[in-house]
Amino acid sequence: MRTPLIAGNWKMNGSLALVERFGQALATASLPAGVEVALVVPFPYLAAAGQALADAPVALGAQTLHQAVEGAYTGEVSGPMLAELGVRYVLVGHSERRTLFHEDDAGVLARVQAALGAGLTPILCVGETLAEREAGRTMEVVLGQVKAVYDALTAEQRARLVIAYEPVWAIGTGKTATPEQAQGVHGALRGCLAAYDRALAEATRLLYGGSMNAGNAAELLSQPDIDGGLVGGASLKVDDFLAICQSAG
Ligand code: 13P
Repeated sequence: MRTPLIAGNWKMNGSLALVERFGQALATASLPAGVEVALVVPFPYLAAAGQALADAPVALGAQTLHQAVEGAYTGEVSGPMLAELGVRYVLVGHSERRTLFHEDDAGVLARVQAALGAGLTPILCVGETLAEREAGRTMEVVLGQVKAVYDALTAEQRARLVIAYEPVWAIGTGKTATPEQAQGVHGALRGCLAAYDRALAEATRLLYGGSMNAGNAAELLSQPDIDGGLVGGASLKVDDFLAICQSAG
């Protein structure tokens, strides 16, 4: 069976004080057995978060990476640097990266390959805009984003990814996909993976993201093909984040 994963994406939010607060809370909280928890914090907080979370069963995540291993790329951070800090997960292709920082499918693929090369687990983010949904193009867009990466990977590499479905219109808007809408896309994603390999489809964790909160998490997470959450705003409040983790148990 797939181990549920709840990952909190702080985006460009938080502080060292918040890192400390989470470290203390998560070290003493009774997290549900059989649920994996990750905190995806801004680069400058990774080292402190690694220390603060040392006593907590919580993995460390980063929000993006550069595709090169090293070099003259001022301002960028590489996979091996993240691995050195104890990072396990790295988001790739978050819609904010695709839209605001112009990452295209080729750039997303290069980053996935760089993450795998550094021994990190990429969380590949996919999702449609409101205009694409209203034009009936949701499946085409979402499955296209997946295929743009998976077609270029080996079977062994494909087995190492997590996928997060985040409808762009649900991110930070308070507008969550209904459990039925989310399950519809997650079911299609599972089918898409099955076309590569049935065992891959069975094993791959598919997270939902987009205004997930303590009130709606349980119903979303009870859907058969939703294996966890990528939580933005609600991951900045300890109690809300812990409540979402509990919902996955
Ligand atoms: P919100 O939970 O704030 O909508 O953000 C979702 C998201 O983008 C997580 O990566």
